[in-house]
Amino acid sequence: MERPRSLPEHSQLIKGIAGIRTQGQAALLTGPGSPQLRSSACLDCAELPVPQRAPLKASVQSDQTAGGNIGMDSVGDTLQRLRETFSAGRTRPAEFRATQLKGLGRFLRDNKQLLQEALARDLRKGTQLDRAFIRKEPFGLVLIIVPWNYPLNLSLVPLVGALAAGNCVVLKPSEISKNMEQVLAEVLPRYLDQSCFAMVLGGPEETGQLLEHRFDYIFFTGSPRVGRIVMTAAAKHLTPVTLELGGKNPCYVDDNCDPETVANRVAFFRYFNTGQTCVAPDYVLCSPEMQERLLPALQSTIARFFGEDPQSSPNLGRIINDKHFQRLQGLLGCGRVAIGGQSDQSDRYIAPTVLVDVQETEPVMQEEIFGPILPIVNVRSLDEAIDFINRREKPLALYAFSKSSEVVKQVLARTSSGGFCGNDGFMHVSLASLPFGGVGASGMGGYHGKFSFDTFSHHRACLLRSQGMEKVYSIRYPPYTPRNLRMLLVAMETRSCSCTLL
Ligand code: NAD
Repeated sequence: MERPRSLPEHSQLIKGIAGIRTQGQAALLTGPGSPQLRSSACLDCAELPVPQRAPLKASVQSDQTAGGNIGMDSVGDTLQRLRETFSAGRTRPAEFRATQLKGLGRFLRDNKQLLQEALARDLRKGTQLDRAFIRKEPFGLVLIIVPWNYPLNLSLVPLVGALAAGNCVVLKPSEISKNMEQVLAEVLPRYLDQSCFAMVLGGPEETGQLLEHRFDYIFFTGSPRVGRIVMTAAAKHLTPVTLELGGKNPCYVDDNCDPETVANRVAFFRYFNTGQTCVAPDYVLCSPEMQERLLPALQSTIARFFGEDPQSSPNLGRIINDKHFQRLQGLLGCGRVAIGGQSDQSDRYIAPTVLVDVQETEPVMQEEIFGPILPIVNVRSLDEAIDFINRREKPLALYAFSKSSEVVKQVLARTSSGGFCGNDGFMHVSLASLPFGGVGASGMGGYHGKFSFDTFSHHRACLLRSQGMEKVYSIRYPPYTPRNLRMLLVAMETRSCSCTLL
């Protein structure tokens, strides 16, 4: 369990990092042609145990074949071992991280001679570091590709970030939400400088042709399938990408919950926009006992939200097109319908539905639902729920409901997802103070608020110097002497590194 980090833990980490930086500089600076430093000149590790050199060699050799390369079997074993360590949560506590950083510090100190020799053989030169600042600059020409489910929001929110950061933009709206596509194409350009903004219309074929061109950044929102196509096209030009993708978002409901509250919140976020929301809770994981309490609560919530005949409710939308309607109608055949289940093709209407007795192998648990259908999958414990979640691709959002904050924190600490919300639906997405984005199969990168500006900016690392003080700086030039090296290290330790955001 990860516990909240206290200030001393943070400062421990920062100290560790600062220590490594100084020692790293020392190792790099004491390169070829320079005399060896006295070991205690720059290091503050007196309290740390001094390791032997031999184990370092031994650990390298144990992972290598006789030929010196890591064999395929041993790579597999090694990756498996590292994944197990990560899954077990070993790398999460701050103390563990600090210990590893201190280990790196000891590595530099104990192997200085070895490292200097390697540097001398590889590079035959020293390296210097100095004050730096970050300049956030526009990438240049940005392509924004938009899906159909929030066709205005998912066009404008990235566009704001791209323009704010100073880019020129090509916007490709979804051809499926064709009315919004038409309005955007006709009206939006009138409000923007045509020299920096253009729209390209079309479906997969036209977008494919567009992607053959070189862009400086591609911001894609859509399915993981098309995300792969976009990333492959971007790779040809080494174009960086943000991929805002979808997937199946689990929603764990603990036994220690008020069923009415959970039903209100899960139903609201599941059936919002008729379920056609990338961050909607995609399925519920709960015990059979909780399911028994949740079903009547969901039944009465759905009736309260949409009336006894949801088809005539002004508060329930329709499925975007026939293709998606038929796909969703097919999913209604999975498990057993506990609530809803009706559909009307002529109206593209699907009733708010809850499915039970659903098997993990059925289509409704294999694909992103993206419609008003909520399957409930039974688990016997919190551990089983977490195993279930971790067996699958990392989701865009993850939800956990419990009156016990300990349970919510456990779900948070032992899983991974783009975003997380305890005891509610996708409210975290509405906060501009939080980045919105996926991880693993649910995407890469993030945006919203200031994060949008950062996403569409290249963070340029800059160093500006004057021509003054050449005498002082000359201590860095060869030939190296013990005296000028000592002075150099003292200067490096005492100088503060400033970072200016422009
Ligand atoms: P999609 O991937 O089918 O289409 C998205 C965009 O890609 C459209 O503009 C489309 O014209 C274009 N496109 C489609 N096929 C293409 C191809 N072969 N080559 C190049 N471009 C192609 O997605 P969609 O059906 O419009 O939207 C639904 C998906 O988007 C869901 O998976 C949903 O979860 C996801 N989504 C994610 C977010 C997010 O912020 N993470 C938001 C909304 C939707």
